[in-house]
Amino acid sequence: MIALVTGANRGIGREVARQLADQGHTVVVTARSAEAAERTAKELGQVPLRLDLTDGDFAEVAEQVEERVGGLDVLINNAAIHYDTWQRAVSADLDVVREATETNLYGPWRLVQALLPLLRRSGHPRIVNVSSEAASLTNMGGGTPAYNASKVGLNALTRMLAAELRGDRVLVNAICPGWVATDMGGPGGRPVKDGAAGIVWAANLPDDGPTGGFFRDGRPLPW
Ligand code: NDP
Repeated sequence: MIALVTGANRGIGREVARQLADQGHTVVVTARSAEAAERTAKELGQVPLRLDLTDGDFAEVAEQVEERVGGLDVLINNAAIHYDTWQRAVSADLDVVREATETNLYGPWRLVQALLPLLRRSGHPRIVNVSSEAASLTNMGGGTPAYNASKVGLNALTRMLAAELRGDRVLVNAICPGWVATDMGGPGGRPVKDGAAGIVWAANLPDDGPTGGFFRDGRPLPW
């Protein structure tokens, strides 16, 4: 299996790449800096690729993936920004909301569009959108407006893609890693290996596995 992970240079993305590599899969380790991608890929014995979700030509990314590893089975949309915990929707800086949306929603959306031809050729096509229970409309309270709005959009994208790609056998799911001790999560969260495991689970789903779902640790969450 060949997987591409965004934001694979640190945090949950790096650990997802490490776990997939440990399972014997080929991982395209992407980061927005070429140096970070190369350093991490070298550490993990995998394939580096520069990929900034807010800039660049994603058709070129697809060409590079094809050239370097010959195809793609799993796209893991992991990278995200602006966990704006102390902000409120009533007073949010909408430029920050726009930035979050650019990285957390439009980036993954453009990447899916660019990589879909490769995924459609795969015998094990999976798209894993790393989301957050904070974006569950059922459980949502106030606060964290930029982050929550962008992840609600990512969840909506998950549902649309799952429905539209059912005929192509592409399984598309949104995964919450739980509260994880990373730069974004801060101290006190659970170990990064536990948060990453639920994402790796979605990458490895069998052909008759779920699609259009929202999960943490392999168990459904309410949308
Ligand atoms: P981190 O902040 O630790 O890492 C974020 C990663 O995203 C970094 O690799 C960063 O790269 C990358 N990134 C940011 N902007 C871009 C961009 N424009 N293009 C490419 N890569 C970019 O986050 P976590 O590891 O904690 O989070 C990973 C995922 O898990 C996110 O989707 C997050 O929303 C989700 N999540 C995390 C939770 C937690 O408690 N940690 C809880 C729920 C969900 P760089 O090093 O260059 O900045």
